[in-house]
Amino acid sequence: MKSWSKMEGMSSIQDNLRQVHDRLASAAQAAKRSVDEIKLLAVSKTFPADAVRLAYTAGQRVFGENYVQEGVDKILSLADIRSKLEWHFIGPLQSNKTQLVANHFDWVHSIDRLKIAQRLNDQRPTDMPPLQVCVQINISEESSKSGVTPSEAMDLCQLIQELPRLKLRGLMSIPEPKESIEQQRADHRMLKTIFQEIQKHRRSPDFDTLSMGMSSDMEAAILEGSTIVRIGTAIFGQRTYL
Ligand SMILES: *Cc1c(COP(=O)(O)O)cnc(C)c1O
Repeated sequence: MKSWSKMEGMSSIQDNLRQVHDRLASAAQAAKRSVDEIKLLAVSKTFPADAVRLAYTAGQRVFGENYVQEGVDKILSLADIRSKLEWHFIGPLQSNKTQLVANHFDWVHSIDRLKIAQRLNDQRPTDMPPLQVCVQINISEESSKSGVTPSEAMDLCQLIQELPRLKLRGLMSIPEPKESIEQQRADHRMLKTIFQEIQKHRRSPDFDTLSMGMSSDMEAAILEGSTIVRIGTAIFGQRTYL
């Protein structure tokens, strides 16, 4: 992992978090929403545990990781503050990695097939609360991106609701980067429409989460009803490798 200067990291992460909170507040105001409805998920992928600890010191509690082993290593090296943190897994998930995710994370945003959901359900330790999950939707329907198509979403959500060790919370998407806020909003609006359709048929009152919006499109996402924004670059800085 890249070298990390604690002094430098401290002031920049603190400043960046403050700026992101300001953006969140302005966007919520523009959308006539309460800022309390929107959870800020700090995406710490590629950054060391020290960076997470600095963000924690600055008041941040919710963190997201994309790569299983990297995320678990970070969670374990921050074991002393584990009970204060909420860890979200947001990356592509292969069958052979579900056990680690079930054992260590609080949330998974990237469920895209039943087999993964079933494994997480079977592997979730009984002394932990149910794993909170979102189904990932491929809004742009490109073959290269993960996520189910909008037409597959309803069935997958119905099946996940049967799994007792998972709690289905909502939907997530990673739209293609778009230039204009109008184009960004159109993608987010599409996810919200699918969300509302599933909400009509849901069995649980906890289907309340729209995980959408990243550093470059969080305003558009909040205007369209996002309840979790996943922010990496604007908090931790540019990533030097993926
Ligand atoms: C990396 C990543 C983010 C954060 O992206 P930024 O543009 O750095 O804010 C959010 N969501 C997912 C799924 C990611 O992989």
